[in-house]
Amino acid sequence: MFKVISFYKYVELENPRYWMHKFRWICNELNLLGRVLVAEEGVNGAICGETENIKEFKRKIRDNETFSDLTFREMNSKEQAYHKLAVKVRDEIVAFGENVDLNKTGKHVEPEELKIMLDNKEKIILLDARGEHEHKIGRFKNAVTMPIESFRNFPKTAGILEPYKNEKIVMYCTGGIRCEKSSAFLKQKGFKKVHQLKGGIIDFINKFPNTYFEGSCFVFDDRLTTISETPIAICEHCGNRSDKYINCHNLDCDRLFVCCDECESKNNYCCSIKCKDVGRHRKKIAVVAR
Ligand SMILES: [Zn+2]
Ligand SMILES: [Zn+2]
Repeated sequence: MFKVISFYKYVELENPRYWMHKFRWICNELNLLGRVLVAEEGVNGAICGETENIKEFKRKIRDNETFSDLTFREMNSKEQAYHKLAVKVRDEIVAFGENVDLNKTGKHVEPEELKIMLDNKEKIILLDARGEHEHKIGRFKNAVTMPIESFRNFPKTAGILEPYKNEKIVMYCTGGIRCEKSSAFLKQKGFKKVHQLKGGIIDFINKFPNTYFEGSCFVFDDRLTTISETPIAICEHCGNRSDKYINCHNLDCDRLFVCCDECESKNNYCCSIKCKDVGRHRKKIAVVAR
């Protein structure tokens, strides 16, 4: 059995390279794959490995004073969700492109608190801070979504949120990291009542599956989405419901699109007849023994 965990912490790191080496060392030692970004503003990671090794990873990281309070979002996985390990130093642990005061972020709301608000039909604006390909396949019911492809476009698109300036807003993203920055940004822009869902969608659906979140949750590993009982997106080929994303196997296209299992094989993993018939096709992934 495998576990996929994600984690982040905004904390001033004097020497990001030191932490890069440290994370890489621990991951290699425990046979973990995934992606860890380190910056002067903190760390952001998602890794996968066997349950016992993940447990050991958490222990080793929390052993450092800087990360003794680190929390983890967890998902079970039948197989290894990543095909490699990448640990890198970056300017930002999540690319936003705007300076915000991370001491003035939106107030954290626990999943339990949000559940109560929704049960009581409290008048709140649920704001999805994620991109289009993410909210297309799954989101909280009645959420306000942003017409953005990447989180970098959040600041310049935030103008559309003006009507909600005085409303009670609860923002959410996959695991919480993007809301730290975007909620601080909105407060900076004069939004009065900004909250953010602690632990994001992942913690919420772990605690309250099949309640207020519909469809599936896009994840940034080889799985692309977590499986949901009730897909809300539609296969681009046949129009049947599906929540499965694949990259078009025409290497000159590589477009991410929603496809059902049946059409996937029928169209040779391509997004269109054109892509299927012409172009250089990606080789099927071969499993290599190490
Ligand atoms: Zn289909
Ligand atoms: Zn294509």
